[in-house]
Amino acid sequence: MTNRRQFLKSAVAAGVAGAAMGAHAADICKKPAKWDVQTDVLVVGSGGAGLAAAVSAAQAGAKVTVMEKLSFVGGNTMLCSGYYNCADPKRQKPLGIKDSVELHIKQTLAAGDNRADPALVRILCEQGLPTLEWLESIGMKFDDRIDQAYGALHPRSHLASKAKGAGYIEVLKKKGDDLGVKFLMDTKMKGIIRENGQSGRVLGVEATDNAGKSIFVRAKKGVVLAAGGYSANPKLRAAYDPRLLTLNTTNNPACSTGEVMLAANAAGAMLIGTDYIQCNPGLAPGRKNGIRQSLHLVVERYIYVDQRGQRFVAEDERRDVLRDAVLNLPEKYGYVIVDADGFAANPKAAQNDAIRGIETGDSFKGETLVELAKKMKIDPKALQATVDEFNKCVDNKKDPKFGRKPAMLTHKLLKGPFWGAYSAMAVHHTMGGVRIDTKARVLDLNAEVIPGLYAAGEVTGGIHGSNRVGGNAVLDIHVFGRIAGANAAKGV
Ligand SMILES: Cc1cc2nc3c(=O)[nH]c(=O)nc-3n(C[C@H](O)[C@H](O)[C@H](O)COP(=O)(O)OP(=O)(O)OC[C@H]3O[C@@H](n4cnc5c(N)ncnc54)[C@H](O)[C@@H]3O)c2cc1C
Repeated sequence: MTNRRQFLKSAVAAGVAGAAMGAHAADICKKPAKWDVQTDVLVVGSGGAGLAAAVSAAQAGAKVTVMEKLSFVGGNTMLCSGYYNCADPKRQKPLGIKDSVELHIKQTLAAGDNRADPALVRILCEQGLPTLEWLESIGMKFDDRIDQAYGALHPRSHLASKAKGAGYIEVLKKKGDDLGVKFLMDTKMKGIIRENGQSGRVLGVEATDNAGKSIFVRAKKGVVLAAGGYSANPKLRAAYDPRLLTLNTTNNPACSTGEVMLAANAAGAMLIGTDYIQCNPGLAPGRKNGIRQSLHLVVERYIYVDQRGQRFVAEDERRDVLRDAVLNLPEKYGYVIVDADGFAANPKAAQNDAIRGIETGDSFKGETLVELAKKMKIDPKALQATVDEFNKCVDNKKDPKFGRKPAMLTHKLLKGPFWGAYSAMAVHHTMGGVRIDTKARVLDLNAEVIPGLYAAGEVTGGIHGSNRVGGNAVLDIHVFGRIAGANAAKGV
């Protein structure tokens, strides 16, 4: 059993572990007299990372159980836009896009200020296309269109043909069911059980069902942690970045609460990069019933303006630059502006959210820029001048004020109706988490492998560095989910 000193040591490493979990060492690491459920591989969390791990472990011949604290599968993956980055000559070449795995690696490392683990980034990018093909082999369909998603920095973002993120979940869940994967729903993981407290092989986990009863699950071959990030835990994220305490989140508030990452830390896992937290356009602080707007998704089609109708940043910048630019505005929000062609280029779901957003005051539509500006309470002359200036930048393929790149200066804003979408910053993705190696094995405070413990997806750290490239998370969860599941099944 873990003693109090050991627990406090790991709680210090986790920052606010004890407070956020409300847990005691005895709760976390007690071996049960009897196991309630036995399986080969236990996967904690049923988002994209968890389901990819479950399918790949089952394909490798293991008996697999997925534990999910909610009553439905999918996590945040279910609601994501589904952009998946990888170099893909078959789709990119016909569109005249030059790309390579090496360029993807270089851009990912640079965008994260070289704080990501280069070995993990290499796996991420090298396994991008093979994993996309693996997803296709089990029924996933992708469009031939390639976008540059918001913060993606290069046109290599693939779009799921059906239902954005929910499309991945539907395919993976069906494959899991076909392979006999079992699901323990409404069951929340509480702690990791090792042979000797914070040392020795991981034997299984302790969880609670929705009546609060303890359940002990024995995983003979391994436990895969795939419980997502902590964007929806204000205390925890503000402990790492105090600016984020009162912001809204784009995540499902029930999912991204971080307790599994903290439980891993309490069991001896190392955490890294936990103060690297990303924001994305979303609802203003305190606003609960609005409709989040996403007309920023196709970068070459939009401009960002403030309440004075002025551009304030290069719209194709890194997400941390965009976050800071918006948070530095006096109002702490801006507007995304597209014309009719830009609106039509956006994914259907983003268009629908904009149409519904008119009712809730989250989006605005005007046949002319003047009408749009009046609805947004912006000086019409200022907005018109900004759009005229931007259109000149497109003509000249140069953006002298902000430095938007020529590849993103391809479409003028000319055709009504024009749309404006309200855009504050909301907490979106946590780049830090449990440290893993290239086999998705969790490492302890001495960087040694914790036998029997694997992790994948947003619960991990070290893959994105200080700033995640847009479209690299859906890639990350499937690449490392697939690796974690296969290795847990084989006991690698
Ligand atoms: C609105 C939105 C749009 C996005 N769009 C994109 C995009 O287009 N491209 C991209 O690359 N990234 C995108 N992202 C980011 C990306 O979707 C996430 O990083 C990714 O889906 C996380 O997957 P995951 O499997 O790690 O976690 P999740 O999908 O969040 O799944 C974690 C699961 O674990 C469960 N869980 C948590 N704690 C416990 C516990 N104690 N016990 C049992 N179960 C637990 C949760 O309930 C959840 O079901 C987007 C995110 C959002 C919110």
